[in-house]
Amino acid sequence: MMVASALLALVIGAVLVGLLLAIATLRDATEAEGRSKDVSIAAVNLEKTVLDIETAVRGYVVNGDSFFLIPYRRSRAELPQRITTFQELTQHNPAQRARVKALVSRIHTYLSVYTEPIIDIFKDDPRSARSSIAQREGRRYVEGIREHFRQISAAEDEISARSAQTASERADLAIGLGALGLILSGGFVLLFGVYLSRSIARPVRDVATGASRLAGGDLKVRLVEGGPGEIGNLTRSFNSMAERLQHGRTELEEQNQLLRASERAKSELVSIVSHEVRTPLASVLGFTSLLLNRDTDPETSRRYLEIIDAQGRRLSALLDDFLDVQRLEEGRLELNSERVDMALLLREQVELFEAQSDLHALELRVTESPLAVRGDSNRLAQVVGNLLSNAIKYSPEGGVVHVRGERSNASVRVVVEDEGLGIPDAQQERIFTKFYRGDAATSGIAGSGLGLAFARAVVEAHGGRIGFTSAPGRGSIFYLELPTAA
Ligand code: ADP
Repeated sequence: MMVASALLALVIGAVLVGLLLAIATLRDATEAEGRSKDVSIAAVNLEKTVLDIETAVRGYVVNGDSFFLIPYRRSRAELPQRITTFQELTQHNPAQRARVKALVSRIHTYLSVYTEPIIDIFKDDPRSARSSIAQREGRRYVEGIREHFRQISAAEDEISARSAQTASERADLAIGLGALGLILSGGFVLLFGVYLSRSIARPVRDVATGASRLAGGDLKVRLVEGGPGEIGNLTRSFNSMAERLQHGRTELEEQNQLLRASERAKSELVSIVSHEVRTPLASVLGFTSLLLNRDTDPETSRRYLEIIDAQGRRLSALLDDFLDVQRLEEGRLELNSERVDMALLLREQVELFEAQSDLHALELRVTESPLAVRGDSNRLAQVVGNLLSNAIKYSPEGGVVHVRGERSNASVRVVVEDEGLGIPDAQQERIFTKFYRGDAATSGIAGSGLGLAFARAVVEAHGGRIGFTSAPGRGSIFYLELPTAA
């Protein structure tokens, strides 16, 4: 903007200087013309005075009347003043000054050599004075003087014409320059306006539009960066501000989601506690009250006590599961690192669960050779137990549960496949989340929603991974992979 303003000022300045020059030239020309006119007038006056002298002298000599000496003397008296004026006016021009000097000397010569002597001669000898020789001599002098006047006039005319010509040329040039300057400065103002509008007004308008969209909640709005100086800074700052706002909002949304998830987990925990704790607790309280308030035979008392014991253990196991998951997640659960044969572990677990249900058949396929991994055998047994227990629990109609143990690359792979309910697509993402039970909670299948969360934490702590595929209504396949022991 500074450069553009400076250029504009320069163009306007040049135009003004051009116009001032034109005015000055015109004034000089006018002055020169006036001076030439003054010179011409002074020349005419001087010439007239000389001619008056000549006429008076001739009148005096021809007529012999001393009356003619009156205009002669008057003109002679005027002559010095006229000569001085004429000299002053032609002072500035050396060529004219030289011509005037010659003229003046010629006039003086005419006066001293002709007019004064002829008057004197006339007094003594009128005939000689009137002689044609004397008259011719007089005319010759006057003619010479007039010739000088003609030369001076011609030279003055030429000077005047030359200065008029120069003035007209300069004026034309100045007018041309002025017009060019006006066109240039007009164009420049136009360009400057376009530049201002493109590089300042438009980006500022974009920023204003962007700001109102931002205020309206559209945090994705971004401006085209660039533009001169502060405009460039403005667009860049706007974009980084929008970026930070969007980032802040994303963070807030994520935190919000986490908060909601934790809120959900809390309410699920409350429902688990109220359901899973209340049922065994009700049994414990009910049978304790029976034992206290009624007389029961030892057989019945023993049965009641066994129920109380089983329900108490269930409660304790629930608490243990919860605390284990909590500790695992916080990295506080200590895991043994021993050599574990997963083939053996699978055989033991399948045997343990086989007796649990008459509806289900457990089919184990496992290699004869050991499937050695390194880890905590009790926790790994818990994990496999959870998978088997789920396969049975979530196949209420019964069916075959296939269990496989195999080597896969550098891993030991365990697969538990059931023909049960399967897991709806919408729930699949969340089943490893603590306390999440999907439809199980409402369908009356007992559980805490902790088994898979625990399993995943244990498997990952062993450097392995756990996953599943499931077809709702047709069954699920859960698998885990653990690194083979060296
Ligand atoms: P729970 O104590 O409810 O069984 P888990 O953590 O073991 O808790 O499992 C979480 C949820 O995943 C279950 O409530 C159930 O909805 C679903 N699930 C787990 N295993 C299976 C399976 N084999 N078939 C169908 N659903 C399953």
